[in-house]
Amino acid sequence: MYTRNGESDIIMHEKIRSNFKFLRSLKARIFIIVFLVGIIPGIVLRYGILENYEDRAISLRTSDMQNQLNIIANHLITYNYLADTSSEVISAELEQLSNLYDGRVMVINSSLKVVKDTYGTSEGKTVITEAVIKCMKEAAGGSSYDNEYGYIEITTPIIETAAAEPAAGGGSPADKEKRQDVVKGVMLTSVSTDSINTTLDILSRRALLLEIMMLIAIFAIALVLSNVLMKPFERVAKAISEVKEGYKDEPISVPDYLETEHIVDAFNQLQNRMKVLDASRQEFVANVSHELKTPITSVKVLADSLLAQEDAPAELYKEFMVDIAEEIEREDKIINDLLSMVKMDRTVATMNISVVDINALTEIILRRLRPIARKRDIEVVFESRRTVTAEADEVKLTLVITNLVENAIKYNREQGWVKVVLDADHQFFTLDIMDSGIGIPQDALEHIYERFYRVDKSHSREIGGTGLGLAITRNAILMHRGSIKVSSVEGEGTTFTVKIPLNYVAT
Ligand code: ADP
Repeated sequence: MYTRNGESDIIMHEKIRSNFKFLRSLKARIFIIVFLVGIIPGIVLRYGILENYEDRAISLRTSDMQNQLNIIANHLITYNYLADTSSEVISAELEQLSNLYDGRVMVINSSLKVVKDTYGTSEGKTVITEAVIKCMKEAAGGSSYDNEYGYIEITTPIIETAAAEPAAGGGSPADKEKRQDVVKGVMLTSVSTDSINTTLDILSRRALLLEIMMLIAIFAIALVLSNVLMKPFERVAKAISEVKEGYKDEPISVPDYLETEHIVDAFNQLQNRMKVLDASRQEFVANVSHELKTPITSVKVLADSLLAQEDAPAELYKEFMVDIAEEIEREDKIINDLLSMVKMDRTVATMNISVVDINALTEIILRRLRPIARKRDIEVVFESRRTVTAEADEVKLTLVITNLVENAIKYNREQGWVKVVLDADHQFFTLDIMDSGIGIPQDALEHIYERFYRVDKSHSREIGGTGLGLAITRNAILMHRGSIKVSSVEGEGTTFTVKIPLNYVAT
C-alpha cells in the first residue's frame, strides 16, 4: 500500500517535473521575463490613466457647473425670481444651461416648493431630499456622482446678502461692512455624464487596440530576444559536443559573452589536460608493449636458432636454456613491476597503515640486499641518528627503501659504498640513500621518475632494470604525503632524500 502510494507520488512528481521542464530552460525564462516587463506599461496605461481620466472629467464638469450655477443663483436674487418666475432672461439662462449640459435644473424656494423645472414636470411640487435640506441649512452647495445611472447631482444655495442691522451707538465701520446671508432657496441640478462615458469608451477601445498591438510586438520581441541571447550558449554546447568526436587541434572559442568565454576557457583547460593524459596513456601502452615484447623476441630467437640446428650438442641446449630462463625471469620482473605500479595507481583506499619501526625495517631490507652488494664488493652502511616509528604502509615503504638501495647498488662501481642515514624531527623522518656510483647526468634528473625511463638503456637492461622502479617509488612516497629529492654528480655518486610525515594524514 505504502509502496504504491510512494510510487504514484513519484510518478506524479515526475509528471509535474516534465510538464514544467520548459521552465528550467533559460531561454523560456528570458522570454517570460521580457514578456512580463513588456506588458507592465499596458496595465499602467489602463488602470493608471483611464481610471484617472473618469475621476478628473467628473470633477471638472462638477466645478464648471457649480461656477455657472452660482452666477445664475445671483441672477435669481437680482430678478427676485423666487417670488416671480416671469423673467424671460432667467428662464432663457436656465434653459440654455440645461441644454448645454444635457441636464435638468429645478429652482426650489425656502418652503421646498419647486418654482421652476426646466423639464416642466415638477413645478409646484415639494422636494424633500437630504441634499436639498442640507444645502438650505448650511448655505453651502454640494455634489454627488451616481456612477450607475451616469449623472451628477449638484445643489446650489440661492443666497441673498443683506446688510446687517447697525448696532446701537453707531457701530464701527467694520460692523457696517458686516453682511448677513439668507438662504432664499436651492437650485437642484442633475447633469448627465453620458458624454464623459462616451469619451471614456472610445479611449478604452483605443487603449485595447494599442494593448493588443503592443502584446503582439512584445511577444515577437521576447521571442527574438530569448533566441538571440541564448545563441552563444547553443554555440558553446555545439562546440563541446563536437569534441566528442575527437580532440580539436584548435582550442574552441565563443567570445560573445564573458560567461561563455569562462565556460569555454575551463573546457579548453580540461581538453588540454585530457590530451596530455591521452598522450601519456598512449606512450605508456607503447612502452609496455615494447618492454614485454623484448624478452619474448629474445626467447623466440634463441629457440629458433636451436631448432634450426639439426643435431645441436647438449651443451648448446643448456647454454641457450639458461639464456631463455633469464629472459623469462626478466619478463616476470617487468610484469611484477607493472602490477605493483597499477596497484599504486589506485587511490588512498588501498593504504594499509600501521605503526612501523623504521629502524628495524631498514635493517631487515639492508640485510637482504647485502649479499648482492657483496658480489661486487660494495659496502652497505646504515647510520641511524634516532629511533623512529611512523604511521605508514609497511609494504609500500619496503618497496621504496628496497628500490632506492637496489639502485644505489646496481649503479655503483666495484668496491664502492652505499650509505643509508635515518633521521627525524617532530614532524617528519628522512632517509638519505647515498652511493659512490656512476651518478646521473643533470639533464636526465628531471626524467628519472618517468615510467620506463632509463639513462643508459642497454646498461640498465644488462643489470636487470625495467625503468619502473623510481616511478613506483615516487608514487608510494606521494601516497604517504611525503617527498623525494635527488642530487647527483656524474662519476662521483648520487643521493636520494626521502621525507615522510610521522603521522599519516588521510585525505
Ligand atoms: P631501473 O629499473 O632501470 O633501475 P628506475 O626507475 O629505478 O629504473 O631508475 C631509472 C633510471 O635512473 C635508471 O635506469 C638509472 O639510469 C637511473 N638511476 C636510478 N638510481 C640511480 C643511482 N642511484 N645512481 C645512478 N643512476 C640511477
